[in-house]
Amino acid sequence: ALRLSQDQKTIFYHPAMGEAYERQRMLEKGLETALERDELHLYFQPQVSLSTGLIVGAEALLRWQHPGLGNVSPDEFIPVAEATGIIIPIGDWVLRQACEFWGELKQQGIIDQAVVAVNLSAGQFRHTGLVNMIRDIVSVTGMPYDQLELEITESHLMHDLDASVEIMKRLQQLGVALAIDDFGTGYSSLSTLNGFPLDKLKIDRSFVVGIPGNRSNETLVEAIIQMAHALNLKIITEGVETKVQVEWLKKHGSNEIQGYYFSKPLPRDEFVAFIQQGQTL
Ligand code: C2E
Ligand code: MG
Ligand code: MG
Ligand code: MG
Repeated sequence: ALRLSQDQKTIFYHPAMGEAYERQRMLEKGLETALERDELHLYFQPQVSLSTGLIVGAEALLRWQHPGLGNVSPDEFIPVAEATGIIIPIGDWVLRQACEFWGELKQQGIIDQAVVAVNLSAGQFRHTGLVNMIRDIVSVTGMPYDQLELEITESHLMHDLDASVEIMKRLQQLGVALAIDDFGTGYSSLSTLNGFPLDKLKIDRSFVVGIPGNRSNETLVEAIIQMAHALNLKIITEGVETKVQVEWLKKHGSNEIQGYYFSKPLPRDEFVAFIQQGQTL
């Protein structure tokens, strides 16, 4: 079968392409109204210190319940939101929600110094309104700058090094902490990162899968931790699922961990209950 694409060029058409295309269109359309229809929710996954066993932060993770498609993974819809530009208002909402929630938890004495980490997409990171938006959110929510952490991936930074450093400096001047997410999956070397105003590296969970036992992953993680410490960066390892992984990471100097072993991402009320139970590692 044949189908005309939008620019009127004829392309060969396969039913599987049609399905993927249909789904893509549904996601694009759905995202336009997801916020107003209250389909987006933030979950919080605790981050725990390996030296004290205490919760020192949480990552805010977006969840989307699509009326027809059910739960759609952020790995699928974030790139779509990024491509259409709707990530800017959605990302703004995520930051506001996360800071509002965190401000409430502080006010209620449920948390004290813990940090909330929010993912920034490439488009948000480059958006000229970012710094002002964060200022605005902080003034409205009363959330201290130094309890907000922003996660960006390596590929966002490498795109335009000089511009990235400028944006990061302005964020760090505010007092916001900066973390590199999914570290090890991109192409940056630690020596490139040396020039960046950074606080933390998050080791990607793909490296944790074979630990302990997988020698090449072990060597890689050890090297990342040692060099990060030499650059004065904190290390958090994500995707930690087992006790032996926790022990290995503790022995090798990871400062913090995040993963199913300690807790899955939780909706607000469950997150609050988890903290109130005084859960420790
Ligand atoms: P990420 O920022 O690297 O987040 C960590 C992902 O690993 C989350 O997937 C989390 O649920 C998952 N995870 C945590 N611990 C474990 C574990 O022990 N085992 C396994 N198998 N997985 C674990 P999630 O929530 O599906 O999010 C996927 C990605 O979507 C995130 O990866 C992030 O890149 C993006 N994302 C999520 N929320 C947002 C958001 O609000 N804004 C932006 N820009 N991106 C977001
Ligand atoms: Mg992240
Ligand atoms: Mg990650
Ligand atoms: Mg990721």
